[in-house]
Amino acid sequence: MATLRAILFLLLLAVRLPGEDLPLMQLVEELRADFRWEPYRKIGTLARGDTKVTFRLSSDSLVINHVEEKRAGKIELKNGALYASEAVAAFLRELFTTTIEGPTISWVVIDPGHGGKDPGTNHSHTVDGNTIRLVEKEIVLFVSKELQALLAARFPDKNIILTRSDDTYLKLEERVEIANRIELESEFESIVFISVHANASLNPATYGYEVWYLPPEYGRGNLLAENLAGIETEELRQILNTMKDEEFTVESVLLARSILNGFDSTIGGLSKNLGLKEESWFVVRNAKMPSVLVELGFVTNVAEARLMADTAHLRKMAVGLYNGVTAFIEGFEGSNLP
Ligand SMILES: [Zn+2]
Repeated sequence: MATLRAILFLLLLAVRLPGEDLPLMQLVEELRADFRWEPYRKIGTLARGDTKVTFRLSSDSLVINHVEEKRAGKIELKNGALYASEAVAAFLRELFTTTIEGPTISWVVIDPGHGGKDPGTNHSHTVDGNTIRLVEKEIVLFVSKELQALLAARFPDKNIILTRSDDTYLKLEERVEIANRIELESEFESIVFISVHANASLNPATYGYEVWYLPPEYGRGNLLAENLAGIETEELRQILNTMKDEEFTVESVLLARSILNGFDSTIGGLSKNLGLKEESWFVVRNAKMPSVLVELGFVTNVAEARLMADTAHLRKMAVGLYNGVTAFIEGFEGSNLP
């Protein structure tokens, strides 16, 4: 069948008339659309997924999804074949290409907190005469690397990166810059940013995992300003800025909830879900994308410290994070599918 289609395609190319018009069937093939033609009413339909375009022969308007009318040019009958004007072809290509692409998370930036001269929180416990010492920068690097490996195996087409992959010191601004510098190839692509930390409390009884996101009242100011350079009025700019903020917040909350569910599934029986928190953490606030800050557990709680001193437990934490991030990605990418 593929050969037949190829031959048909070449034939259609061969019969292309001189001038600007394009054989409609060639366009239908190119767009992978279904085509129907009603010869008596002289009405044709191109459809794929949720998009349907109806035209009447020699009329210069196209009807999109039964409602929207677009004056793009004419489709004409010549020598028994339908031909689309260059303008109609360009419009249909744009319409069908746009609807083909859904939202995609093309980058996951995992940020292991602290590093180098900044150990983060750390604590020693004496258990059965042995001393266990927990250092945040080490725990979070281990879990982050595990998470990266799991996500990279599951999503070979996505870029799964770490802000640091060894014991390096990075300023907070540098971490966010790594993510903010990423250039996306299309408006349908998104990045998510996950900062991984371990917690400490003055109360040694406190334990559990929690995920922080940016509260809606924290505007991200003019962080998006450079993307809006073409927009004239300050008012519109502010509205758009706010909309983007809200979009990020909604997605950040969904991601945070999903990660908590992921932890529940792997370490829920050993630790405790302390829930979703709102905070204006620098790394979260300055990221121009859905972003969360994960606190794996408390190094100051002896039971949790014992768990986190065990790499098998840290791997479970990574699997919990992985489950949460994967569920979020699948929901996000599936949300706009037909
Ligand atoms: Zn930290």
